[in-house]
Amino acid sequence: MNGHPQLNEDFDLYALGALEGEEKQALEVHLRSCTDCRRKVEEARGRVALLALAAPPEVPPRQIRDRLLRQIHAKPVEQPPPPLAAFRRWPRPAFALLLATILLAIATALLVFQNGRLSRRVSELQAAALQQQEETERARSVLEVLTAPDTLQVTLVSGAAQPLPLGKTFYNSRKGLLFYAANLPALPPDQTYQLWLVPAEGNPVSAGIFTADPKGDGAVLLPVLPPGVAAKAFAVTVEPAGGVTQPTGPKVLIGVVS
Ligand SMILES: [Zn+2]
Repeated sequence: MNGHPQLNEDFDLYALGALEGEEKQALEVHLRSCTDCRRKVEEARGRVALLALAAPPEVPPRQIRDRLLRQIHAKPVEQPPPPLAAFRRWPRPAFALLLATILLAIATALLVFQNGRLSRRVSELQAAALQQQEETERARSVLEVLTAPDTLQVTLVSGAAQPLPLGKTFYNSRKGLLFYAANLPALPPDQTYQLWLVPAEGNPVSAGIFTADPKGDGAVLLPVLPPGVAAKAFAVTVEPAGGVTQPTGPKVLIGVVS
């Protein structure tokens, strides 16, 4: 093959890997010196890739094959019969099977890729939904404590500092506890405020530690408490950082259940 291949089918067959022997060698030798034909090979590779995404796999190869057959028969006798040699090694069913196998492999790879992406997206959405559900449930729990008719409201005061430190507790022995404080002085880093539930019987129960922000506000929301404890009073003490199991420091706020 000294000149350019006459028909694009040669490029298609080459791109499919179906061109063999002398035909293939001749084309490859020609490609080394012909930019035009190299471009056509690239185009053919593009067409072959597109086949994987479109149309039933048998249709384009059959057209290619039929036109190639016509080309073979039309060729002058003195020319060597190269495409025939290549084609004999690819009888119709084997050729179609090769094509189907290539296309199936490409389609499978695409599906695996898509499937992986979808799985990751589903996981992300599930995690987001779970987080939203947790936040909603916590908000509902806060609202339940605030609105239940049997929730105690106890105001805690101090006689010492100015402006007066103030605390407010919403306590429901079945639903939980909310505590808000205002005007509390800032503490050194090795100390903390600790809220206590003083039961009708027995020792005070820790209802959590908290710090006051620069405005003097502090809060404890829904601490873990033993269920069903009847409260006699609530108190806030100053304790070593991290809190203690029983109150040791000065009481800065105290409120008795009326
Ligand atoms: Zn050429």
